[in-house]
Amino acid sequence: MKYKIPLFDLNFGTAEANNVLKTIKSKWISMGPKALEFERRFANLLHVKHSICLTNCTAALHLAFDVLEIKEDDEVICPSLSFVATVNAIRYVNATPVFCDITSSDDLNLDPRKINSLISAKTRAIIVMHFAGFPCDMDAIMKIARANNLKVIEDASHAPLSEYKGKKLGTIGDVGCFSFFSNKNISTGEGGMIVTNNDDVATDVRLKRSHGMTTMSYQRATGHSTTYNVKALGYNYRMDDLRASIGIVQLGKLKKDLVRRAKVRNWYLKELEKLEHYIFIPFKQNQEFVSNYVMPIVLKKSQKKSRDEVRTVMHKMGIQTSIHYPCIHRFSIYQSFATGSNLKLTEYISDNEITLPMYSGLSKHTISVIVNSLYKAIVK
Ligand SMILES: *Cc1c(COP(=O)(O)O)cnc(C)c1O
Repeated sequence: MKYKIPLFDLNFGTAEANNVLKTIKSKWISMGPKALEFERRFANLLHVKHSICLTNCTAALHLAFDVLEIKEDDEVICPSLSFVATVNAIRYVNATPVFCDITSSDDLNLDPRKINSLISAKTRAIIVMHFAGFPCDMDAIMKIARANNLKVIEDASHAPLSEYKGKKLGTIGDVGCFSFFSNKNISTGEGGMIVTNNDDVATDVRLKRSHGMTTMSYQRATGHSTTYNVKALGYNYRMDDLRASIGIVQLGKLKKDLVRRAKVRNWYLKELEKLEHYIFIPFKQNQEFVSNYVMPIVLKKSQKKSRDEVRTVMHKMGIQTSIHYPCIHRFSIYQSFATGSNLKLTEYISDNEITLPMYSGLSKHTISVIVNSLYKAIVK
């Protein structure tokens, strides 16, 4: 079925196509000048020292745990209300995920007040995920991390250019990871980025993204080097220049796109007032500049219709919705890591959240069509 109003709409235009064509004509199509330019522009935009582009964010998360030397039997405190890649990456280095609940129906991010009781002698790191681009309480999380000598990884897949007290998300912890998958704020088809202010971490990420080799093809082709050594067990997590050239154009559009999304969210907030007895709107009081990657609402307990019934009615009216997220600890491969954990709020959101369409091209009129359909689906 083709939806009348989709969840997401790609903002590609001729500029993306033209930049790819230029790269094709240049005959240097992977990890060359375009990848370097994309990295430089990303770093400048985020005011961060190092930006390293990769095949996708899952690779970024894996490398983050790898270079921070998180190993077998180490414990990592993590959210369950996230995409599964956040936690899969912990398992790639054979470490153990320790699930932490969210703060409230209003704040869907990791609750710092619940972290302390989860810290053991084996805890080495905390991974946070900034839901829809709304910032976690990074002051509290960094304070806990410093007091306990823990690394902090930010899964900032939802959060390019989003801010917390004047800092860009992804640049506050030890390592920040971004995704450029098709439906993210910046799209390159597949793609990812690691950012860090730590020189040693950056050197290790650059080494391990390309087989642990000390020089890259581009350096050799440009005469800067004639051979290479392999000094670490690396991977092939390189981004190609075709995708980087799309990323460069997408970066140029980002700020304007996010300003427009903020407007779309405000129209939603106004229209959704008529549903205040039936739903919560997470992060309603947020004042920071954020990416608004998705538009979540949560059905209240007093509300009689089930989330799935509401979604079915919406779909019949041609409106696509989604769920963020089916929580990770209930997936069969993760159930054994959550025995005894209290994840009640996470489970409530997972069972009652509905993600409404969000993209910069949505008009005020379309928002009112979506909200009126939601009203009918819930109230009638
Ligand atoms: C999209 C996403 C990922 C995975 O990113 P890929 O680039 O597809 O590997 C990880 N974490 C979160 C929170 C995401 O939304």
